[in-house]
Amino acid sequence: MIQTIRGFRDILPGDTALWQTIEKTASQLFEDFGFQEIRLPVIEKTELFARSIGEVTDIVEKEMYTFPDRKGTNITLRPEATASVVRSYIQHKMYAADPIKKLYTIGPMFRRERPQKGRYRQFYQINAEVFGISSPFIDAQLILMLNELFKRLGLTDLTAHINSLGCPECRPTFHQALLDFLTKKKDRLCSNCTRRMDKNPLRTLDCKVPECREALKEAPTTLDHLCGGCSDHFDTVKTTLEKQGVDFIVDKTLVRGLDYYSRTAFEIQTTALGAQSAVAGGGRYDALVKELDGPEMPAIGFAIGFDRLAEVMEQLKGPGKVKAPDLFIIPLGERAMEKAYLWSSKLNLKGVRSETDYAGKSLKALMKRADKLGAGHVLIAGDKELDENALVLRDMKTRDQTTVPSDDPIDNIIKILTDKGTIRD
Ligand code: ATP
Ligand code: MG
Repeated sequence: MIQTIRGFRDILPGDTALWQTIEKTASQLFEDFGFQEIRLPVIEKTELFARSIGEVTDIVEKEMYTFPDRKGTNITLRPEATASVVRSYIQHKMYAADPIKKLYTIGPMFRRERPQKGRYRQFYQINAEVFGISSPFIDAQLILMLNELFKRLGLTDLTAHINSLGCPECRPTFHQALLDFLTKKKDRLCSNCTRRMDKNPLRTLDCKVPECREALKEAPTTLDHLCGGCSDHFDTVKTTLEKQGVDFIVDKTLVRGLDYYSRTAFEIQTTALGAQSAVAGGGRYDALVKELDGPEMPAIGFAIGFDRLAEVMEQLKGPGKVKAPDLFIIPLGERAMEKAYLWSSKLNLKGVRSETDYAGKSLKALMKRADKLGAGHVLIAGDKELDENALVLRDMKTRDQTTVPSDDPIDNIIKILTDKGTIRD
């Protein structure tokens, strides 16, 4: 038997109802905020990720699925979406007519991490990115939008953690302060951190090794080194969130695992998934469009971990509802079988979830099956009912029975089910 490879999994029909709810709720909400959907390839040139995420990051150093294609070009299964959205924004000169673009995309990402609960090698994200607006109001708006999404999905135990990572103006003094601190603690840091220290000292701050965490507890923070512009920007983000009634925690230790962020960085965290606490993460990346050979362009975005969000929802609210048939047609005898098939298809074409039997089973067996499927009604069509031009329509809940003529039952059935409100909205 061939099975999925490690870290990859199927999202089965029992789970997809929940996934669809999340997807619909998110796209509806995002579109109300002016976002448009974009669909992107899952494979890109390796260089795109190496240059944007940063060479000295966990993702680029050890998590990417990179391989040469048959002609020898290095290609990578995308580990995240922002780089691709930026690539597309530049490639199609989306900034030309109007630099302001709000885009969202939903799809799979690939990272070769150790698989565990809430951590897979193929996982899904819902991404939203805004180009062309440098105002801190947009930073607040994205966090507001995430907050609203979780509210609409009925999730309440989530907390927004926010921080400011500074900008190219304030970063050098912060880097120096951090480097001085790290040099003093060098003996207590893991080999990864000591190696990364000089190239990218910020990365030591999201090292997961407990000894490093302990040693770095008193490390200098970006917040203590913000320039005037960054400080004002962050203040406005905070006061705006307060005015809009969005709860948040300022988290000085939040640095995010990708190099392109500047100024506002945020994560939405939960306590429901153990160690995998981040359900969404994002931030401003004002330098990235230029770095990838586009124009100078402010930008900000976030990624929601779809798998984790679905897991939190399932824990809190149970699995999503599987759609039961509105009607199960029970044909009894050869003559009825063809009619049942034709009626059932016709109903399907008219938006009624109808099912029937194709194997000539007994009334008892089919009643049992209709019950198991959770059908709202059954329609009994035996020789007797056909001869008498009176099919029996039975409400499975109330057990009420009505008859409908067999020469043209479709409109009657639709009318009865609609009047009762048992057809889906
Ligand atoms: P973590 O710290 O948990 O590794 P991250 O900072 O690497 O998360 P991001 O790059 O910010 O993650 O991606 C955004 C979201 O995607 C995360 O908040 C998380 O919910 C989800 N995510 C990231 N990696 C995985 C994974 N391997 N499996 C499932 N979901 C993931
Ligand atoms: Mg990670």
